[in-house]
Amino acid sequence: MFERKDLERLEKFRFEDAFVVSLFLNVSPQERKKQAYLSKFKNLVKALPEKTQSSVKEDIEKIESFLQSERESFKKSLVIYSCSKKELWVRYDLNVELKEDLIVDRTPYTSLLFDLLDNYQKYGVVLVDKRTARVFLVFLGDIEEYGVIEHEDVPGKHKKGGWFALAEKRYERHIDYHVKIHLKDVVDKFGDFLKDKEIRRLIVAGPDEAISHLMNMIPDEVKLKIVGRANIEKHASKEEVLKKVLPIIEEYEKSKEKETVSELITRALKNDNSVTGIDDTLKYLRERRVMKLVIAKDYEVEGFVCENCGFATTQPVECCMECGDCVMKSDNLLEKATEMAIEQSALVEVVKDEKDRQRLIEYGGIGAFLRF
Ligand SMILES: [Zn+2]
Repeated sequence: MFERKDLERLEKFRFEDAFVVSLFLNVSPQERKKQAYLSKFKNLVKALPEKTQSSVKEDIEKIESFLQSERESFKKSLVIYSCSKKELWVRYDLNVELKEDLIVDRTPYTSLLFDLLDNYQKYGVVLVDKRTARVFLVFLGDIEEYGVIEHEDVPGKHKKGGWFALAEKRYERHIDYHVKIHLKDVVDKFGDFLKDKEIRRLIVAGPDEAISHLMNMIPDEVKLKIVGRANIEKHASKEEVLKKVLPIIEEYEKSKEKETVSELITRALKNDNSVTGIDDTLKYLRERRVMKLVIAKDYEVEGFVCENCGFATTQPVECCMECGDCVMKSDNLLEKATEMAIEQSALVEVVKDEKDRQRLIEYGGIGAFLRF
């Protein structure tokens, strides 16, 4: 998992006159069959000018042997920044597909990762009980543990008063003083964590009692961010935590699906930074103005695509309206639109629920929220 400050650090790194290789490669189990990902990497290398290839020969060799030896540890995609001359090697394993690319330049290519940070939702998880709390971040289908907050019971060491003196009286009778100190600290530290990591969605986990005490202390603006609760054992491994929270996230995102479709249609009808239908959507994709693409699962629209510049339309044209080159018939323009969206790091939301899907199909099966 990567963070904004990792990317900023990478951008500040002094490469001077050295070249840095930036690689984005899909390495899902399917890609790993017959080592397809490896041939794709080799093709990306071949596509580079010879002079460029030789300037980063060491890095290319290093990456190639890495791709062969480390494949068991891969997730869906891989990002590598390598500069042997400056002894830089950065690797990120992601659980999403990426637009594949190999870039050799004097600076690392980071904009794709910055876009992922901007477009994908992060989920904070707090696993709390009376004495401890563990904090996790779930992002792009992956989980990271960020820390433990622990409070030993040491009577007489805490000062009464202040914040606690103001706490609700009725509630005070039901909760042990030290638990309260602990939870107050958890709320503070978790709040800082949410701000620091720019997290807008939360899941609270733990025994019911600890959760309800915690809920009494969480400020309202943080409560609004909670999307679900889970019962998780306090010593659970991070993989176990992920297994418990992923269904909650899926459920939440599914309910968002309905909202998304309604909002898209309403806003498109009002001309409010949204469009529906394949032709309008393609138009804004070409202008790189799409923030989020919304498509109906398994829906297809036939049309024509220019092989030269990528122009696509449902209109029966013989020549490209942009560059005049030949156009090819396409069985599914939605696929083309998705490709374009991924390429510009727009979010892509696939509507799966049948009712919402049908509603979107009435409006062309595709639409987009625009950046401006
Ligand atoms: Zn064209």
